[in-house]
Amino acid sequence: MQTLTILGATGSIGKNTLDVVKRHNDKYRVYALTANSDYETLLLQARDVNAQHVVLADVSVQNEALALAASMELDVQCHFGVDALVKVSNDNKVDTVMAAIVGAAGLIPTFAAVAAGKRVLLANKEALVMSGELFIAKANECGATILPIDSEHNAIFQCLPHSFKYGDLAASGISKVLLTGSGGPFLETDLALFDAITPAQACAHPNWDMGQKISIDSATMMNKGLEFIEARWLFGLDNDDIDIVLHPQSTIHSMVQYVDGSVIAQMGAPDMRTPIAHALAYPVRIKSGVNPLDFNQLRDFTFSTPCPERYPNLYLALRAARMGQSACTTLNAANEINVAAFLAGHISFTDIARCNAQVLDAHEISSLTTIEQVIQCDQNAREVAQSAILELS
Ligand code: NAD
Ligand code: MG
Repeated sequence: MQTLTILGATGSIGKNTLDVVKRHNDKYRVYALTANSDYETLLLQARDVNAQHVVLADVSVQNEALALAASMELDVQCHFGVDALVKVSNDNKVDTVMAAIVGAAGLIPTFAAVAAGKRVLLANKEALVMSGELFIAKANECGATILPIDSEHNAIFQCLPHSFKYGDLAASGISKVLLTGSGGPFLETDLALFDAITPAQACAHPNWDMGQKISIDSATMMNKGLEFIEARWLFGLDNDDIDIVLHPQSTIHSMVQYVDGSVIAQMGAPDMRTPIAHALAYPVRIKSGVNPLDFNQLRDFTFSTPCPERYPNLYLALRAARMGQSACTTLNAANEINVAAFLAGHISFTDIARCNAQVLDAHEISSLTTIEQVIQCDQNAREVAQSAILELS
């Protein structure tokens, strides 16, 4: 029996995780579930899987949540605030933590799980983008195992040899890691129409059903830029080790190319339950509920290169990757502010990249040697991003 905490249980990854876990209640027991403020969904989930603890990060919902839990006669302990998120992440009753909070808010509890030497199933790419070197060093120091949930990184992990040593591509005869991306909903949209793109259009991803923030990031391809940085830290890669390949069908989830000319790809339906089941049960395989690929239905199988005019955010992220850690932390924070402003109708779709670029241009590189410095850098970037938005309007 593995005992699990699911951070971000009410989100898209959280719900998919519960779907897989419920298929295997002989293998997984849920210790704690967490959410930001959606206490209704969280308490229903807790009843469904018999969770012992729930945590709501947003303390302002405390009274309503406690009243609902009492009226449901639930045998669950309710906690509130960030300290409680940390407590259910590093509790010694917990073996595995699914890190599926969206954005920088995931850093503190995810880092706590790493520092407690847990098996960490990492969906929260922003935590790694913000703090890469510290995060990996802490995992090594504390004996944490990090298993990638992001479909591309899970695919790369599956395509690497078992003998792969962190950062040593040559020893495994690897020439390139090929990070694939669909290009999002605007792969073929006339660039002249980009200013008028609405949040609803940008959230309608052609292949994947995801939370709002990552859906916008997929439409701008900032997501692929964050994934580029994520891949560097997860596998110890250099910038030149990774090529980004557009593959609109999302059937291949990424590839590893070897010096002898072989390319190993991981394929499957675009359904996050596959990487979730893979990481939950690794190194064994369990059923995920995902339908097998039907190769008779796969008509097109195409590849191309993403262009900078269509995806300026991707190229900003590649620039930040070359600049170093503080630039990655800064761009990630600015992007969260700008995506939220776009979703709220305050700025246009193309303003996201415009404001992100302003913040990155103004950034002065500094070294981040503690998590406190990472959080300070994130806060500063948020303030610069807010003023960039104000200047626009
Ligand atoms: P989502 O918006 O659907 O869910 C986010 C979860 O985080 C919710 O449970 C929410 O309550 C919680 N949360 C939000 N703000 C919080 C805060 N301030 N404090 C505590 N909890 C908070 O997001 P998602 O699509 O499930 O994505 C989660 C993470 O997984 C993201 O980092 C995303 O990049 C990554 N990811 C998602 C997918 C996908 O298919 N959805 C794929 C790959 C990676
Ligand atoms: Mg991904």
